[in-house]
Amino acid sequence: MRSLAVANAPTPAAEASKDLAVGQRLQRLCDLLGVAGARLSNISADGLTAIAVAGDQTPVPALEARARAAAQPLVIADTDQPPMRFYAGMVMPGEADHPSQLLSLFDPRPRSQMMATTIAAVAGEALAMAAIARQRRVIEAQNKTIADFTALEEQRRTLFDRASATARIGIWQCNLSDDSLLWTNGVYDLFEIPRNTPVTRELALACYPELSRQRMEAARAHAIANCSDFALDLEIITVKGNRRWMRLTGAVESRDGVAHRVFGMKQDITEEKLLADRTRYLAEFDVMTGLANRSQFQARLAELDSGSAQFGALLLVDLDGFKQINDTHGHAVGDDCLRETARRLVECCIGAALVARIGGDEFAVLLKADLPRQDGLALAQGIVDTMRRPALAQGRTLRISASVGVAQYGGGSAEELFHQADTALYAAKAAGRDTSRSFAA
Ligand code: GH3
Ligand code: MG
Repeated sequence: MRSLAVANAPTPAAEASKDLAVGQRLQRLCDLLGVAGARLSNISADGLTAIAVAGDQTPVPALEARARAAAQPLVIADTDQPPMRFYAGMVMPGEADHPSQLLSLFDPRPRSQMMATTIAAVAGEALAMAAIARQRRVIEAQNKTIADFTALEEQRRTLFDRASATARIGIWQCNLSDDSLLWTNGVYDLFEIPRNTPVTRELALACYPELSRQRMEAARAHAIANCSDFALDLEIITVKGNRRWMRLTGAVESRDGVAHRVFGMKQDITEEKLLADRTRYLAEFDVMTGLANRSQFQARLAELDSGSAQFGALLLVDLDGFKQINDTHGHAVGDDCLRETARRLVECCIGAALVARIGGDEFAVLLKADLPRQDGLALAQGIVDTMRRPALAQGRTLRISASVGVAQYGGGSAEELFHQADTALYAAKAAGRDTSRSFAA
């Protein structure tokens, strides 16, 4: 059973009832976030003084000390140290008449990283809202004008919005009884919908391309059916027509096992996604020719050993006398020749499993398993014939040629297949170049 306690309640009745209200709000926060315990403490030079506590109060002093010292909220999805496996702690900076405070949330059950982040984000917003309410009380007590209050409230909101905008995060919730939505400004900004526009699911769904919408609806429906959480990266098109990538996280709140609310975060991850795509591209592709690079080739070839793929044959293609082209015409011409070689290879090898540039002037082609042996040999000769065509490089017409070695896959290892194709290539070079050879066991 959860207990609600109020620590260090000051003696005046008004203060006590105010702290009781804080304690009740803290308990509501625990219930909302599904965490076992929470503690709100004032921060002073002497340490932490609990203002209100809710639920399970197993001490977590070391984590609270870390959270107090940290510049960012401290979110630990799994401490790995029972009894408290989940911890989130965040500091709300103080004001002239109000000390800084630390909000700690904890639970004996660990959380997923995504759930932990969502809980911390929602708790952070609750703290900001509590600060707004506090300002309201102070101003009302001082009999200040409504205009003063509005200005201060605006200041607090601006502060929170700025923090959310920096992280490009917005918080959303959907009430499942009537599908009504509530968004913070960060979500409006993400969808480029004017802030405070009454928002409906239809309006939001119109920003999801079909595939994104299907993925989101499937994840959401699954989470609602299982009262679980979900996270996925989705493409959206804002109302202004801009394409963006969004990280969507959601958690389902249930009562008596029935889902009644979904809430979570939406974060603009466009830059992160583009950077990740670029990094992946650089890791897997050759920038000069746009073909797969050596590392992607090796990974695909290794699929033979893991049994995850079958290939019919491997062709290794190497330009003849390429050093001479560089030496005579310069590297820029050499580079153009390499790009032209790549284009011709792709043209010859339509339907191949992979065409890659695996070295300076060396290329590899993996053929699919169902390709008849004769077609592999014919393709090798076709490549030789195609490369012989005059090539245009930096305004000059050049003659290039290539040698090709072919190895049919006969059930050995990836390394053996590569060695066999290399041996065949060597034989083609030894036979005078501008020709193809097949590996014969
Ligand atoms: P062989 O017929 O025996 O293959 O003779 P080759 O001159 O083609 O010799 P090899 O294949 O060993 O030489 C490849 C050359 O490719 C060496 C290097 O100068 C050149 N090379 C490697 N990478 C690049 C590149 O990115 N651009 C240019 N222009 N040249 C490159
Ligand atoms: Mg060469």
